[in-house]
Amino acid sequence: MGYLTSNPTRDGWFGDYGGAMLPPPLEPHFKEIREAYDQLSKSSEFLTELRLIRKHFQGRPTPVSYLKNLSELCGGAQIYAKREDLNHTGAHKLNHCMAEALLAKHMGKTKIMAETGAGQHGVALATAAAYFGLDCEIHMGEIDIEKEAPNVTRMKLLGATVVPVGFGGRSLKEAVDSAFQSYVAQADTALFAIGSVVGPHPFPKMVRDFQSIVGIEAREQFAEMTGGQLPDMVAACVGGGSNAMGLFAGFIDEDGVDLYGVEPLGTSSKLGEHAATITFGHDGDIHGFRTLVLTDEEGEPAPVHTIASGLDYPGVGPEHAHLHKTGRVSYVAANDKEALDAFYKLSRLEGIIPALESAHAVAFALREAGKNPGKSILLNLSGRGDKDIDYVTETFGFGDE
Ligand SMILES: *Cc1c(COP(=O)(O)O)cnc(C)c1O
Repeated sequence: MGYLTSNPTRDGWFGDYGGAMLPPPLEPHFKEIREAYDQLSKSSEFLTELRLIRKHFQGRPTPVSYLKNLSELCGGAQIYAKREDLNHTGAHKLNHCMAEALLAKHMGKTKIMAETGAGQHGVALATAAAYFGLDCEIHMGEIDIEKEAPNVTRMKLLGATVVPVGFGGRSLKEAVDSAFQSYVAQADTALFAIGSVVGPHPFPKMVRDFQSIVGIEAREQFAEMTGGQLPDMVAACVGGGSNAMGLFAGFIDEDGVDLYGVEPLGTSSKLGEHAATITFGHDGDIHGFRTLVLTDEEGEPAPVHTIASGLDYPGVGPEHAHLHKTGRVSYVAANDKEALDAFYKLSRLEGIIPALESAHAVAFALREAGKNPGKSILLNLSGRGDKDIDYVTETFGFGDE
């Protein structure tokens, strides 16, 4: 049996990681979600509906591009990119948001809800809600609302209700708490749509399954471009880990393909100055599941920093913790400076402005290509960088030194 069908276990464990540690009032609701997903993931009607949405609304398949100029610059491995920046709304997140909303609809729910940090998940979910005619409630810290004004405008245009969260640090962590509280009160009619391969079972499995289209397409496209070959190295940035699991899914049973997850090293390896959870974290529980976590002296989730706000999470999907432990995936890190350099180079040399998150995967390719002549690297360009251009140019200029 292949890796994907045998992981996780029925209870949602990837080896020692995962599971579902739920407050009792939520247990029946997660049972309902598990049962609905179990049934729908085998329903040809559901899968056909999803396939048509991907094709006619999202614009899939997204292409794989050969990055000729970047490859020549590095003078080693040939670099290819899976173009999730060309998916509708400009990132891979819509892949699982459309599927979660379709699930909500099949379950008879009238609302989807979530928290958002930088607003990317909120925008993708609001898009899905608009498409399916569902209500959408997004909780967002007041600090993030100020910082990410364009995404707040997008969510409102798409018809979502944005709930400002004004307690504590007024950021992502408080938004999670606030959204969960609100969900408990309306779980009969709403579905909480988690934004990555994190959270209690079945979300890490479900979101991985929904994202696996990225790897399935990429494998076929890469083979078509190279006369039937597989890439030697496959790389993706890891925040919660959904774009990485999506791409890895296409190659995980191929022992000859090396898989790399690239974590954000921020400004240094000191706690609080990075978000490299697998590189520096320890076993622990966060938001209802067991995984690797970055914690402070009191054992609380530690503050994290990275230039890419979409990677800013002190935990990681349980499947990544597992794949780290088994050694199937190598987890490495790229810092803010390397990501910025990659951001400028991909823009200037290939005509693709990447999201700062995705730039971490590009940075890995830039670092490794020269050392691996004769090989090929396929990276996931998880999103486009329009959201980052003002911040980057106002803070760091145009990259021409
Ligand atoms: C949210 C986001 C990420 C990080 O999320 P994962 O679940 O780790 O994939 C990466 N890239 C982009 C463009 C994002 O919006």
